[in-house]
Amino acid sequence: MSKKLTSRAEDYSKWYNELVVKADLAENSAVRGCMVIKPYGYAIWEKMQAELDRMFKETGHQNAYFPLFVPKSLFEAEEKNAEGFAKECAIVTHYRLQNDPDKKGKLRVDPEAKLEEELIVRPTSEAIIWNTYRGWIQSYRDLPLLINQWANVVRWEMRTRLFLRTAEFLWQEGHTAHETKEEALTEAKLMNNVYATFVENFMAIPVIQGVKTESERFAGAEETYCIEALMQDGKALQAGTSHFLGQNFAKAFDVKYANKEGKQDYVWATSWGVSTRLMGALIMTHSDDNGLVLPPNLAPNQVVIVPIYKSEEDLNAITEVANSISSDLRGKNISVKFDNRTTHRPGAKFAQHELQGVPLRIAIGPKDLENGTAEIARRDTLTKQTVNLNDLTDTIEGLLKEIQETLFKKALDFRNLHITEVDTFDEFKDVLETKTGFISAHWDGTNETEEKIKELTKATIRCIPLDMNEVEGVCVYSGKPSKGRVLFAKAY
Ligand code: AMP
Repeated sequence: MSKKLTSRAEDYSKWYNELVVKADLAENSAVRGCMVIKPYGYAIWEKMQAELDRMFKETGHQNAYFPLFVPKSLFEAEEKNAEGFAKECAIVTHYRLQNDPDKKGKLRVDPEAKLEEELIVRPTSEAIIWNTYRGWIQSYRDLPLLINQWANVVRWEMRTRLFLRTAEFLWQEGHTAHETKEEALTEAKLMNNVYATFVENFMAIPVIQGVKTESERFAGAEETYCIEALMQDGKALQAGTSHFLGQNFAKAFDVKYANKEGKQDYVWATSWGVSTRLMGALIMTHSDDNGLVLPPNLAPNQVVIVPIYKSEEDLNAITEVANSISSDLRGKNISVKFDNRTTHRPGAKFAQHELQGVPLRIAIGPKDLENGTAEIARRDTLTKQTVNLNDLTDTIEGLLKEIQETLFKKALDFRNLHITEVDTFDEFKDVLETKTGFISAHWDGTNETEEKIKELTKATIRCIPLDMNEVEGVCVYSGKPSKGRVLFAKAY
């Protein structure tokens, strides 16, 4: 295994990039801003997908698939959405190449093969989906329409970073249609809550639920709900968003339904999404200078067994024990891998599993065979204990539960320690310099103040917390009246 990672204290950003590559999660590709997700990284993403998919279905949603391309005329239909995404989209203009007559062995765009209408590679799918919904929705009997799509999208991001911000990313996007405004609002909040539950319970990352200010809102939305998390370097990360779209898309695409009285009305909409950015959140929340730390719920292998042997005979005896342990663990729905590769020494295996964040490592050597024991090492605390084989399955089951809870608690303590209430702009700037994290401060509710603070400090309003206390105060920057404290932070 290659040498140690750069430490977080030394260079957080370097640590992150090295970890992603060395833990075999992803790597940069030949395409600017686009990454290759490697099998180990993809296995973790698949675990996230499986649980989210289960939660979406449990709340009444169905999966469908829509085209990758959006004809320009449809893309333009909802003006605000179009304006918001126009700055960062890829456009298909031609459909054929030909041999270049001037350069042997090279191809060029066939000028004869120009598309009549340009196609936008979807940065988000509202346009193509709402154009389709016009044919699907006629009456109140067709509502609510609750659809989710698992897909890739393209946003031509200028500053990219593996998982956190890529030009192409994988995500799911929910698109729903409802009879009333209240129903759509309830849906938008429900899905934000589904995200919060998933990220907290499954990924062990504490989040704050809130709404975005107008300037941070999704283009074309009336309200954007979000979950915000705090990374170990004190920067915030938007981990998921859920939008109440009002009747904007229904009007742009003429999607009407006959209500129970036979009257025609536009439907109400939501959309919501989480992306492979969640992989970045996972890494930046739990991992340490030794590599990835995975919450057991997301680990492709929750347990790995490493044999320590000199002779073939020992290996055979250990294999027998390992197989029996594996089958007991699988019986309890615990995923386990017996790492019996003969190409690597135990030390190299230990290093790899540590770097890749396997929650529990079991080592079995000749002494253990004699004593009927095994050694368990915890990835999160790096502690070891020797356990009697009879107690092994129960101990492991208990430890996995404990690790999941410990990781959440640790992240929650860190997050709570990094929310600072301030009442003056000097304090505000001081926190950004020294302690970082979320700053809870009064804001006068205007765009101008928000802009000015961003310009002066790079901190933005991450959200107006859903549980904000409505108390009179004065804005930390302008001194004008404020209705309550909002959360600022520097963010990814
Ligand atoms: P949006 O459609 O802008 O509300 O974004 C939906 C989800 O995708 C949010 O959770 C974003 O944080 C995430 N996201 C937005 N842009 C990117 C990107 N370039 N790379 C990865 N994830 C992204």
